[in-house]
Amino acid sequence: MDLYEYQARDVLEKHGVPVLRGIVATTPAEAKAAAEQLGGGTVVVKAQVKTGGRGKAGGVKLAHSPEEAEARAGEILGMDIKGHTVHRVMIAEGARIAEEYYFSVLLDRSERRYLAMASVEGGMEIEQLAVERPEALARIAVDPTVGIDEAKAKEIVDAAKFAPEVADEVASVIQKLWSVYDAEDATLVEVNPLVRTEDGAIVALDAKVSLDENASFRHPDHTELEDKAAADPLEAKAKGLDLNYVKLDGEVGIIGNGAGLVMSTLDVVAYAGEEHGVKPANFLDIGGGANAEIMANGLDVILGDPQVKSVFVNVFGGITACDEVANGIVKALEILGDAAAKPLVVRLDGNNVEAGRKILAEANHPLVTVVPTMDEAAAKAAELAAAK
Ligand code: GDP
Ligand code: MN
Repeated sequence: MDLYEYQARDVLEKHGVPVLRGIVATTPAEAKAAAEQLGGGTVVVKAQVKTGGRGKAGGVKLAHSPEEAEARAGEILGMDIKGHTVHRVMIAEGARIAEEYYFSVLLDRSERRYLAMASVEGGMEIEQLAVERPEALARIAVDPTVGIDEAKAKEIVDAAKFAPEVADEVASVIQKLWSVYDAEDATLVEVNPLVRTEDGAIVALDAKVSLDENASFRHPDHTELEDKAAADPLEAKAKGLDLNYVKLDGEVGIIGNGAGLVMSTLDVVAYAGEEHGVKPANFLDIGGGANAEIMANGLDVILGDPQVKSVFVNVFGGITACDEVANGIVKALEILGDAAAKPLVVRLDGNNVEAGRKILAEANHPLVTVVPTMDEAAAKAAELAAAK
């Protein structure tokens, strides 16, 4: 889960990272009031969208008075930044910047550890810096069992060649940023820019924080950070039903058991769909216990997607055998009744497959076509989706 900048700012502050005061506003009048509350001096009006490069896009503007803050907020609210509409701005205390640095710590999946990156040339887009002047971006591996202690923070600061005057202070801020990463179960904490102000303070001016949703059970306070309004309504519904669902932009709904099987189902449907001009509509893994209720919930979510024209149910019977899954499908169709009005292509294989196919054959549901192999089933589902 990615946080908005204003949420990231609060999380950083909670862990003692120096940040500037910031107030969220949704209207120009609120922006003016916020600027007054911050003392009436120079503020920065910042678009709150979950994408980078806001500065370049005109979504970060200085304002020297509350009236100016009101005017800038009027320009920024409603703006489109890389496909994200700005509904909120943060009015932040203005900083007098002497230097801009970069720091991030993130999960390095391929190396199975964390990676810290730092540069004394922050501010600009870091991807560009990494390509054009890779030597200016220090990359330091972080052992997950140790984290960023004082010695590791020093190593990072040395590798990035921070000036001796700021090295200790930057190292101390880096350790606090590590505690954000560690204590909040983040997968990314990125500060760009981390600045030195004209009076010598080290301050995090912009932060990007992504939290690991797998750890949300130990962070009840993270629920309120969720952006319910922006979430896809079908994804929100699936989440409420405890389903692993991701909405995609296609016509063939997909249900499978096991993430690997569902991923390969997406591939075969994408391939079979080329001929018919259709694509997979979603990812949905109903996991191991594919009982009637879970199957009904899954079908209900998928059939609720108006773009879906056919559904491919691809199940490999394991601990939950094919006959149980087949019963699940039959009962799910009973539960859904008239709500199930789109053709279903079912491919069953694995444990007790014959019994499973027999159950579906006997039920003889008008919407269900049983197809023996995954490729044939994908082709059938694509054909049915295109025919609608
Ligand atoms: P981003 O473009 O989405 O990464 O947004 P940032 O928050 O990083 O802002 C972009 C740039 O605006 C920064 O690199 C700074 O140069 C500038 N900026 C942001 N806040 C302030 C501020 O308080 N004072 C000044 N003078 N510049 C700022
Ligand atoms: Mn930035």
